[in-house]
Amino acid sequence: MAPDPQVKKKLGLVQVYTGNGKGKTTACLGLAFRASGRGLNVLMLQFLKPDKGYGEHIAADMIPNFTIVPMGADHMCGEVVSREEDIRLTKEGLAKAEEALTSGEYDLVILDEINNTMSFGLATPDDVIALLERRAPNTEVVLSGRGVPQKIIDYADLVTEMRLIKHPFDKGIGARKGIEY
Ligand code: ATP
Ligand code: MG
Repeated sequence: MAPDPQVKKKLGLVQVYTGNGKGKTTACLGLAFRASGRGLNVLMLQFLKPDKGYGEHIAADMIPNFTIVPMGADHMCGEVVSREEDIRLTKEGLAKAEEALTSGEYDLVILDEINNTMSFGLATPDDVIALLERRAPNTEVVLSGRGVPQKIIDYADLVTEMRLIKHPFDKGIGARKGIEY
């Protein structure tokens, strides 16, 4: 289904989902679901996340105009990942993001956990802004993850902070299949 040109015409803003409460990646996935229903072409690049067959990867395979590309090392499961490896994968991710943003092929590009790459010092806010500046007209971009830098807040059109009030992690309940991944 091709998107309505009237719908596409209104896209092109920069959205940010940040904060320490749960819901950032979930918000991105909800948005992707809604946009794909409208026939928009959606790409989610996941920084700092491995190709582990999360629930969202399985679901995205069922939607032809929604693609998820995980692009990070596996920090979970006790694996040791060097800083060099994180820097290398982040650089590769930024190159992929640039390709996706400049091509005009996607209506919505979600850069999941990209805020963390900046808060971990793997990428600078200037690197990310340079990339956003080059986005094709009518390509909407979403940046998610904790600790978004002020420069990005200033640049964005929409910023929402998920504020932590309670999380089951604090009473020892770990990540659950179908809810967290
Ligand atoms: P989700 O993917 O569930 O929407 P998120 O994107 O807001 O969560 P991240 O910062 O990406 O959260 O955190 C990665 C993992 O940590 C997710 O599995 C998430 O559910 C979990 N998590 C989120 N908030 C907290 C918290 N306050 N304490 C512990 N774990 C959390
Ligand atoms: Mg997340």
